[in-house]
Amino acid sequence: MAAFCRGRHRWKRTNCWHVLTRNLTGKFDYDLVVIGGGSGGLACSKEAAQLGQRVAVLDYVEPSLQGTKWGLGGTCVNVGCIPKKLMHQAALLGTAVKDAHKYGWQLSGPVSHDWSTMADGVQNYVRSLNWGHRVQLNDKKVKYLNMKGSLVDEHTVRALSKAGKETILTAKNVVIATGGRPKFPANVPGAAEHGLTSDDIFWLKKSPGKTLVVGASYVALECAGFLTGIGLDSTVMVRSIALRGFDQQMAGLVTDYMRAYGTRFAWKCVPKRVDKLSSGLLQVTWTDTSSGQEHRDAYDSVLWAVGRAPESKVLGLDKLGVQLNPETGKIVVAADESTSVPNIYAFGDIGEGRPELTPTAIKAGRLLARRLAGHSSELMDYDNVPTTVFTPLEYGCVGLSEQEAERRHGSDGVEVYHAFYKPLEFTVAERDASQCYLKVICERGGAQKILGLHFTGPNAGEVTQGFALAVKCGATYSHLLQTVGIHPTCAEEATKISITKRSGLDATVTGC
Ligand code: FAD
Ligand code: NAP
Repeated sequence: MAAFCRGRHRWKRTNCWHVLTRNLTGKFDYDLVVIGGGSGGLACSKEAAQLGQRVAVLDYVEPSLQGTKWGLGGTCVNVGCIPKKLMHQAALLGTAVKDAHKYGWQLSGPVSHDWSTMADGVQNYVRSLNWGHRVQLNDKKVKYLNMKGSLVDEHTVRALSKAGKETILTAKNVVIATGGRPKFPANVPGAAEHGLTSDDIFWLKKSPGKTLVVGASYVALECAGFLTGIGLDSTVMVRSIALRGFDQQMAGLVTDYMRAYGTRFAWKCVPKRVDKLSSGLLQVTWTDTSSGQEHRDAYDSVLWAVGRAPESKVLGLDKLGVQLNPETGKIVVAADESTSVPNIYAFGDIGEGRPELTPTAIKAGRLLARRLAGHSSELMDYDNVPTTVFTPLEYGCVGLSEQEAERRHGSDGVEVYHAFYKPLEFTVAERDASQCYLKVICERGGAQKILGLHFTGPNAGEVTQGFALAVKCGATYSHLLQTVGIHPTCAEEATKISITKRSGLDATVTGC
C-alpha cells in the first residue's frame, strides 16, 4: 500500500509523489481495488484474489439518518434480502400457527409475537454473516479496509477512515460497486426527520407498532407484508400502481391477497407532511389524488419505501469524466461493465439499467473479475433474470410480463396459458386460494417459445428458480407439457397448464 498523502495540495497530480512513483515504475499497489463490499464487490474481490490478483476492497457504511449502522456485506446481508426474508419467515410462521389448529396441534393460550426476540435472532445471524465475510476475505488474502473510498484518478483511490485517517491505494483497475441507499421524498416536511427506511426497520430494538409504509414496490409490499403477518396494523400508501414494471395482473393478485390478509391500502394517495404529536405519535397528512381530499391519521412509525439512489457524488467521478445518468446518479456502463474512463468499472445497483438484485451483482462481479484477470471473456447476461417478491403470497417470475410480451409481439402474437390452482397445504387449513395463479406466456406461432412465466403461491422463489433454467435454455410450451410433474406440488401445475386466456374457458384447476 502506498504511504499516506495528507493535505489537499498534495492531490495535484504533479505534486503527489505516489502518482509520480507509479508513473515512473508502472507498478501499482494492487491489480484491483474494489470500492464497496456488498454482494457484488465481495464476489468480485474474492474471485479476483482466487485467480492470483492482488486485491483490496473498501467498505464503509454511513449511518442512516436515524443513526442505524451495520457491518461488512452491503445491503443484502444487513438491510435487505437476508433480514427481510427472515422477517417474512416470521410472518409465515404466524400463518402456519393458525393453520396448525386445523391440523390437530393443540396450542394453549393466545399466540402473540415478540418483536425483540425476532429482531435479536435476525440481527445476531446478520452479525455472523458480517464476521464470515471478514474471515473469507482474510482467507483469500484480500486486503479489507473499513474506509470510504473515492477516486483521485483512474488508477488511484483515496480511502478515508471514520477517524479521518487517509490512505492512498494505486491499482491497475478500479471497480465501483457502492450500491445505493433509500431515498426520502422531496417536499414532504418531516419525512426524513421522523421517518424510517429499510436501513432502519430490521435493526429496531422495539416493534415499530402501527406503521404507514409509503411506496408500492418490492420493499414497500414486502415490509408491509411481514409487519401485517406479525400482527401489526400496517397501511401501504400507493401513489399510482403497485409493482410497477411487473405483470399487472399478478400485482393485483399480490395486493388482493395482502388486503384479505389484513394489510390496509391507501390507493392513489400522496403524503403531504409528517408532524410529531405531543403523544409521540406521527401525524401524517396526505392527499387522495382521485378525490382531491386531504386526510390525516396517526402512526407509531412511517416507513419510506420510495426507491433507492446511489451516493455517487462522494466518489469523485465527475472530475475524472466518468459518465453518470444525471437523473438517477447511476454510472453509465457498457456490456463489459466498463465506464467511460478506461480502467474504471462499475456494476451492481450503481450500474445504470442493471437489475437491483443480489444474484445479478454477484454474477456480474465474478465475471468481471475473471475478465480483468484475463481468464475469460464471458459477459454477464442480464436477460431473463428471475425474481421473487416475498409478500405474504409470494410472487415469482421470469421473462416478460403479459403487457410487455403484447407490446413486443402484439396481442395476436402471444398465447397465454393460465391456471387458478389450490395449493394442497391450503386445503385442510381452509385457506382462501383465490389468488394462487400461474401463467405461462408463449409466442403464438412456431414452437411456442416461452416468453414469461409468473407464479403466485407458496415458495414462489423455489418454484421459479427451476423454471428460470428452462426459460434460459429457450424452453417451449411443448417442452413444458413433456415435463413430468412432481406430485403433489404447486410447481407441477406448470406441466399441466392447458387453458388459454383467449379461449375464455374457466382456468380453475379441479382434482389432481
Ligand atoms: P450493496 O450491497 O449495496 O453494497 C455496496 C456497499 O458499498 C455497501 O456496504 C456500502 O455501504 C458501501 N459503500 C458505499 N459507498 C462507499 C464508499 N464510497 N466507500 C466504501 N464503501 C462504500 N435483492 C435480491 O436479489 N433479493 C431480495 O430478496 C432482495 N431484497 C431486498 C430487500 C431490501 C429491503 C432491499 C433494500 C434490497 C433488496 N434486494 C434484494 C436488493 C439487493 O440488496 C441489492 O441489489 C444488492 O445488495 C446490490 O449489491 P451491490 O453490491 O451493488 O451493492
Ligand atoms: P422502486 O422499485 O424504485 O419503487 C419505488 C416505489 O415508491 C414505487 O412504488 C413508487 O411509485 C413509489 N414512490 C416513489 N416516490 C414516491 C413518492 N414521492 N411518494 C410516494 N410514493 C413514491 O424501489 P424499492 O421498492 O425501494 O426497490 C428498490 C430495488 O430493490 C428494486 O428495484 C429491487 O430490484 C430491489 N429489491 C429486490 C427485492 C427482491 O428481490 N425480493 C426486494 C426488495 C428490493 P411509482 O410507481 O408511482 O413511481
